[in-house]
Amino acid sequence: MKIIDSHIHLDKYKDEEISHILENSTGIDKLISVSFDLNSCQKNLELARKYSKVKTAFGFHPEQELPTENGKLELFNWIEIHKDEMIAIGEVGLPYYLKQSQKVSPKQYEQYIELLEAFIQKAEEWQKPVILHAVYDDSPIVCGLLEKYSTKKAHFHWFKGDSKTINRMIENGYFISITPEIVYKEKIQQLVKTYPLSKMMVETDGPWPFEGPFSGRMTHPNMIQESIRMVAKIKKLPINEVEERLFQNTLSFYQLSLY
Ligand SMILES: [Zn+2]
Repeated sequence: MKIIDSHIHLDKYKDEEISHILENSTGIDKLISVSFDLNSCQKNLELARKYSKVKTAFGFHPEQELPTENGKLELFNWIEIHKDEMIAIGEVGLPYYLKQSQKVSPKQYEQYIELLEAFIQKAEEWQKPVILHAVYDDSPIVCGLLEKYSTKKAHFHWFKGDSKTINRMIENGYFISITPEIVYKEKIQQLVKTYPLSKMMVETDGPWPFEGPFSGRMTHPNMIQESIRMVAKIKKLPINEVEERLFQNTLSFYQLSLY
């Protein structure tokens, strides 16, 4: 199998789960472990240094309280020092779910946008791709920011949004990645039908738990095999062809070498 889990929070698993995942993932060529905050960046860096299969991205997940000014400085300084060991900036984006639960004021929302803009600027300066958490109403705002900085290498993980934004993203050549939700969610199946395979990757977003046939199971990158089967079915292509395509997409997007 040639599979890359293009978005996982490996540092959020327990230590014994991490070793279990890495020892039982013969079909998984690489895992891209994205970061949540500075602690998470540090843990991911350790994992990437320890396991050659693990590649990492540094960032600040938007679905949490904003960092303090000092915290922000500390994080950006740390990333600057370690930037050669990351393959991208991520996970960054906008707090759609926090905003939905009325935990973000309009003023704070502006600050989240400013923080994201600072990351996009750095990604351009450092010539790194950017891994985005940007769904529904937030995604047009994020597209606007990416367009402002002429960012080409954008990966919208677990994307959900309207068809107008989907078309804008396709036109701009942005990538999306598909979670195991594709096996049981029609909305995601519809997205896969519309979106070009050449701009697609696969992911788990683990340890986030899945439902349907995955209910009650620890999220494992092996679940991606089921996702690929469903993508192949929707695209009416042979499974191995889809697997190879998704693998090559991820390798070239992140400029990863084969070994
Ligand atoms: Zn994530």
